[in-house]
Amino acid sequence: MRSPEQVLHEVFGFPSFRGQQEGIVRDVCAGLDALAIMPTGAGKSLCYQVPALVRPGCALVVSPLIALMNDQVRALRAYGVRAAALNSQSGDGGETIDALQNGQLDLLYVAPERAAMPGFRQLIARSDIALVAIDEAHCVSQWGHDFRPEYRQLRALCDLLPGTPRIALTATADVATRADILDQLGIAPDRMVVAGFDRPNIRYEVAPKVNAAKQLLAFLDTQRGRSGIVYASTRSQTDKTAAALVAHGINARAYHAGLDGVERARNQDAFVRAEDMVMVATIAFGMGIDKPDVRFVAHLGLPKSIEAYYQETGRAGRDGDPAVAHLLYGADDIARARGFIGEGGAEKIAADTARLNALIAFCETSGCRRVPLLTYFGEPAPPPCGNCDTCLSPPAMRDATEAARKLLSAVVRTGQRFGVGHLVEVLHGTAGEKVRKFGHDALSVFGIGGELDANAWRSLARQLEAGEALIRDPEYGGLKLGPRAKAILKGDTPVELRIEAARPERERRRRAP
Ligand code: ADP
Ligand code: ZN
Repeated sequence: MRSPEQVLHEVFGFPSFRGQQEGIVRDVCAGLDALAIMPTGAGKSLCYQVPALVRPGCALVVSPLIALMNDQVRALRAYGVRAAALNSQSGDGGETIDALQNGQLDLLYVAPERAAMPGFRQLIARSDIALVAIDEAHCVSQWGHDFRPEYRQLRALCDLLPGTPRIALTATADVATRADILDQLGIAPDRMVVAGFDRPNIRYEVAPKVNAAKQLLAFLDTQRGRSGIVYASTRSQTDKTAAALVAHGINARAYHAGLDGVERARNQDAFVRAEDMVMVATIAFGMGIDKPDVRFVAHLGLPKSIEAYYQETGRAGRDGDPAVAHLLYGADDIARARGFIGEGGAEKIAADTARLNALIAFCETSGCRRVPLLTYFGEPAPPPCGNCDTCLSPPAMRDATEAARKLLSAVVRTGQRFGVGHLVEVLHGTAGEKVRKFGHDALSVFGIGGELDANAWRSLARQLEAGEALIRDPEYGGLKLGPRAKAILKGDTPVELRIEAARPERERRRRAP
């Protein structure tokens, strides 16, 4: 029997394993199950292809994408591996089945529909199977974005092969989906490996939005002569921004679903070939674009989620050279995103809220950006990276524990049903009509919050909400105490606030990368 290293060198011609590949390969070769969660491009395929050649018998690979399956089979054959596929394009597959039964196959790729057929199960039960690999394993879960009912049959197939390792692979990041994959496929939770999400060559920078157009130009001045993507929220913002950049002498184009197909294709083509083009685009742009030397990705507003942000910024620096991810976000973005939450039942609201809170916590952290980013994907917290804005110039912080307690007290005293605007009036001692109507000018908290201006109070409220010390009433939008409030009120959890939160006008971050 060959060793995994021998297979890696002799068959694939690679000098060494990458990241977690080695551990996963070793375990699967030894007959253990695995769930590998790695981003696209991290090298998931080798995690089962190497064990397929180390272990005796044929590896069964379930994959839902015919084009990808055919690519893999072609690539493996080019390495001299005996690979074949059974899917809707491969006819009845008689020859392939003969080869399997005669022990002449190393890897057999099958579509999930085929794998679910009773006849196929009987065939597999009679064959010598090295392992079962389940690609795009999130398809097994209704929580995933791509549920495939046939994937639910795969458990029964695996169970026909006791002692045969099963390895599930996906790039999905969602925690609920992962738990479901383990459960549905019968893989023990301690067999899950999450890895490869860090992109060390990308420098993450996040700044509050004050004047987006001006801030963008200042950023682009640090990126002259490089190619990058600027993500805008709407078509009209895309067009306007592109025009403004062109007027500023930047080689920029626009891309969004409102352009006709010919123009979209032309702009995309030009971008891929250019060395110094800025593509201003909606999130419609980027999927499947092969341009390794994208040097920066800028966001003019809050992305949809950390997953979306990771995917969009991940288009920068694929060649491994330094790249920058530059995000501008505003309080209005956060308010709008909160406003979108509220449909689909309590469970969905809770999940959407948690996702948004994680994104805001990433934006407002005073520590290394990679900590909220990588822990979100389930990786252990890394040490400070030295390659993000907060590592390079730690933000000035002030203790805001007392202010946080005042804010939480104001929430309690006013009956846990008012929005931040009203709370600020109470804290500032502004006896407006609504404040007087509710008698809030007579409360002990009235006028106790002169030390922060309205912006700083709002920023503090956002931070407390992202940290679950405050939660929003899903029906009326008022703020209530959350599970983390008690520890702050008792003084057990200190709270810090960025000093700049009080002075957002200050110009920030014009460093060259
Ligand atoms: P994924 O399925 O995770 O998106 P792939 O398995 O397609 O990623 O691998 C991405 C690329 O990385 C492929 O071109 C593959 O050949 C290459 N690759 C994977 N592992 C290694 C390695 N250990 N050494 C060199 N190249 C590798
Ligand atoms: Zn850092």
